Amino acid sequence: MTQNIADCRKDFPALQQNISGRSLVYLDTAASAQQPAAVIDAVAQYQRENHANVHRGVHTLSHRATELYEGARDKLRAFINASNRTEIIFTSGTTEAINLVAQSYCRPILGAGDQILITWLEHHSNIVPWQLVCEQTGAELIVAPINDDGEVGLDELYALMSDRVKMLAIGHVSNALGTVNPVRRIVERARQHDIPVLVDGAQGMPHMAVDVQGLGCDFYAFSGHKMYGPTGTGVLWGREALLEDMPPYQGGGDMILEVSFDNTVYNELPYKFEAGTPNIAGVIGLGAAVDYLQSLGMEKISAHEKHLHDYMVNKLESVDGVRLIGTADEKASVQSFMLDDIHPHDLGTILDNQGVAIRTGHHCAMPVMQRFGLTGTARASLGLYNNTDDIDCLVVALEKAREIFA
Ligand code: PMP
Repeated sequence: MTQNIADCRKDFPALQQNISGRSLVYLDTAASAQQPAAVIDAVAQYQRENHANVHRGVHTLSHRATELYEGARDKLRAFINASNRTEIIFTSGTTEAINLVAQSYCRPILGAGDQILITWLEHHSNIVPWQLVCEQTGAELIVAPINDDGEVGLDELYALMSDRVKMLAIGHVSNALGTVNPVRRIVERARQHDIPVLVDGAQGMPHMAVDVQGLGCDFYAFSGHKMYGPTGTGVLWGREALLEDMPPYQGGGDMILEVSFDNTVYNELPYKFEAGTPNIAGVIGLGAAVDYLQSLGMEKISAHEKHLHDYMVNKLESVDGVRLIGTADEKASVQSFMLDDIHPHDLGTILDNQGVAIRTGHHCAMPVMQRFGLTGTARASLGLYNNTDDIDCLVVALEKAREIFA
C-alpha cells in the first residue's frame, strides 16, 4: 500500500486493465469508487479465516468476527470525530440511513402543518424518503431553490426556516453538479429556529475531512462504496441524545435484549438500529477503507482533487461545443456538461469505446436536471487515483466524439 497520492493508482486492481484496447480512464467515482487491494484483501481474509456471526457466539471465530466488526465501528467513530461509538449505526448505505431518520425520528413527531425542508440540489435518496413520511403524516415538503450556477440560494433557504420546519435535510456535496454546500453556516442558521439538520454526506466523505461535531449537524449519512469501501455498507451518525429517544427502525435479532409475547426490551445503542445479521464482511472492508484514506490523509486527498478539478474544468472549457452545467464557486470533484447537441448516452458510449468511463443521465437528481431544462448530462467525476493524464484522455475522447458527430 502506498503512502503517496501520486502513486496510489497502483493500489487499485480494477484500474490496471484495458477497456476497448486502452488503459482504463475511470471518471465515475461519484457513482461508485474503485476499491484498493487493502479493502479487497481485508474482506477476503475475513471470509477465508474469520467468518462467523457476530455478537452472540462464544467460539473463537465469532469472537474474531465481532472484534473486527466492532473495530470498524471504532475506526469510523474516530474518522468522523463522533463523540461516542454508540453514535455509529451501520446501514446498507446513505439511502437506508436517510430512510431510518425519516421513519424513526420524523414520523412519530410529524403532523399536518409541519414541514420538512430540502433543496433543489438533492439526490432522490434525500427527496423520496421525506415525501414518503410527509404522505404518512400529512406534513409538507418544502424546497429551497438553486441559482443558475447550481448553488443553493441561502437567502431563500433561510426565508423558509421557521418553527414549522421539523427537519432540514441537505446534501454536503451535490452528486449531479459537485456544488459544496456551506453546511456549517446553514446549520448555525437552522439552530436559531431549533431545526434539526440531517446532512447527506454520500459525496462529502470521499473528498474532505468530515468532523460531525465541527459541522454541528444532528445526523450525517454516508455510503461505504463512495469512499473506496464495499457496496451494501454505510453509516448513519446521529447525536446520542436523539438516537436514544428514537424507536427502532426495524425489528429482529440483535436489536433486542429480551423478547416475550407481552413485552420486548430493545437493545442499547447502536444495536437498537442494527436488526438482523449485518454486512459483516462489508463493514470490515469499510474499516479497511478508512485505514487507507487515513494513510493518505484527507487533506492531501482534498488538495489533490481540487487541483485536478480545476485542471478538468479548464480543459473542458477549451473543448469547442462543451457547456458546463454546475459552475458554483465551491465545487468538489464532479463536473456535469453537455457536448453540442449530442445525447449524453451516445456520448458516454463513444467515450467508453475509447476506454473512458463517465456517467450519463439524470444522476438520480431529476429536479436538478429539470432546473437546467435538461433530461440528463454527461458527468465526469474524480477520485484520489485520477491524474491529469486521465483528463487529457477525456478531452481527446470528446474531440473524437465531435468528429464522429460532425
Ligand atoms: N446522496 C447522494 C448525494 C449520492 O450521490 C448518493 C449515491 N449516488 C446517494 C445519496 C445514495 O447513496 P446509496 O445509493 O449508496 O445509498
